[in-house]
Amino acid sequence: MDTEISLAIRAAHRSSSNRFRIGASARRKDGAIVAAHNATDRIPYPRGHAEIRLARKLDVGSVVIVVRVRRDGRLAMAKPCQNCLRSLLSVGVAEIYYSNHDGEIVKLSLREECYPCVPRYASSQRQASRSAYCL
Ligand SMILES: [Zn+2]
Repeated sequence: MDTEISLAIRAAHRSSSNRFRIGASARRKDGAIVAAHNATDRIPYPRGHAEIRLARKLDVGSVVIVVRVRRDGRLAMAKPCQNCLRSLLSVGVAEIYYSNHDGEIVKLSLREECYPCVPRYASSQRQASRSAYCL
């Protein structure tokens, strides 16, 4: 998974948003590795989020990694927001990992955490964006 993590970090550095340097990468089921970065400064929310930009490159069974890179280079919270989760889940991703507050790469529990949240927050963009990066 080191390759995917370093690719996600490199993608995060290409983010057009200086505040949210988010990068996402994935190993597709067919073995290809793809990446995307946050572009919310030129593409409006939610389509500019790295995960949604990545979603169109994925296939069923992809494993996704999302990282946020601070200005000092440390990793920060990059848990996908509800809109991005819905996009990733609709593609049929197998697993999602993200960098947490401690800079560790952790696995998102799709069954316990995501599915109950998606309908609850789907109608509230404000809540969804707040849950995205734990401001
Ligand atoms: Zn998002």
